[in-house]
Amino acid sequence: MDKLNQIIDGMREPLIAMVDRWLSIPSVRAEGKPGAPFGYECRMALDVALKDAEALGFDVRDFDGYAGDVRMGAIGVEPLGILGHLDVVPAGDGWKTDPFVPFHDGDRIHARGSSDDKGPVAAALLAMKAVKDAGIPLRREVRLILGCSEETAWDDMAYYSEHCDMPRTGFSPDASYPVINTEKGSLQISLHADYEENGLVKEIHVGERHNVIPGEASALLRGDNFLADKINAAAAGLGLDVKAEAVDGGVKAVSVGIPGHAAYPEGAKNALGQLLKVLRAVGLTGALATLADVVGTEYNGESLGIACSDKTSGPLTCNLGILQYDAEKGLYATLDIRYPILCSHTALTAALTAAIGGALRVNVDSQTDPHHVAPNSQLVSALLDAYHVVTGLERICVATGGGTYAKCLEEGVAFGCAFPDDEDLAHQANEYLSIDGLMKSIRIFANAIVKLAGVQG
Ligand SMILES: [Zn+2]
Repeated sequence: MDKLNQIIDGMREPLIAMVDRWLSIPSVRAEGKPGAPFGYECRMALDVALKDAEALGFDVRDFDGYAGDVRMGAIGVEPLGILGHLDVVPAGDGWKTDPFVPFHDGDRIHARGSSDDKGPVAAALLAMKAVKDAGIPLRREVRLILGCSEETAWDDMAYYSEHCDMPRTGFSPDASYPVINTEKGSLQISLHADYEENGLVKEIHVGERHNVIPGEASALLRGDNFLADKINAAAAGLGLDVKAEAVDGGVKAVSVGIPGHAAYPEGAKNALGQLLKVLRAVGLTGALATLADVVGTEYNGESLGIACSDKTSGPLTCNLGILQYDAEKGLYATLDIRYPILCSHTALTAALTAAIGGALRVNVDSQTDPHHVAPNSQLVSALLDAYHVVTGLERICVATGGGTYAKCLEEGVAFGCAFPDDEDLAHQANEYLSIDGLMKSIRIFANAIVKLAGVQG
């Protein structure tokens, strides 16, 4: 172990060089090209990472640009999977520096993809290198799988598992420590209604994705200064940040909340829910009123009749992500529901259909089962041991509403790389990684590999 630690001590510079190389590639999914199913940049990110792994002396494979892998140890024997991804979400607004020119600020490197997920993947690769260079004999295969469409459709893993064996067990360093052994189920619903003449609302167009909590929402209304005053008074009475003013063609109401991710609504404020509640207070009717009544600003699904919780997973969460309403298209809205492991998605759909009472048509757009790995499994125990040995921090398992590639493995958990006190800027502007943090992750992963795959485990 001393030798392993010494080798890792020397990895700071190679780590920085590697993440700089990877972060300079804007690997946002784009239109597929021959040999580059997710566009040229994702292809390049995979090529560069596989070339780096090859230069470290590993056996690498490319699955036609969909995914790649890096293998060591006893190839073919009970592979331990480590699943990460090289694609990134679009940069978005609000960056202080170029998101695809890694910006070094002391211990931090700012760039899109730094913490999600290129930094963690580099840490896993260097952990494998450290185990190899320390000459620790392995009784199993250790396999780092590099996906290229995690942020979109996961068609990379579908292709990978069609073209080779997917490991049965392993972890995904694409979230946080300690071990996330429970991922809630997810249910994406769309709601539809025909347009009905409505004395108040002309049109509402808010949100683009089910899983984003809208931070801003606006509506165009029929009315004048009198209506604007009424809305402002109602908003003040409800304590919601909604402001209205007369504009050309009516009144514009603007709601300001706090944006967030549907899986983690604590701390966010749904601007769309706020807007509907205020409009309801000034006489909103029809299907929009139903939406205001059964969802509004709630995240727990209580008025929808679907609130539930279990000890392992925590509570159900529900987000109103999109609302489109106008004379041409009628009403279209979406709900993103993350449900506890003991809950049935068919019962949820039935309950919410009943709560909506015919005012809106309910369609299930997609559904993913919950995922759970026993906290006393060998996998979880070994990962928690490795984490505790390196950091001295508490050995506990946690649940999440988010989904990671851990779900692609029969026995998979999310593990790293954010530490309990780290700021989480995944998918946000000015995302960064901590070099010290990743060095710690290299130690944790190397320890975990030795425990799970080493001859002396
Ligand atoms: Zn990720």
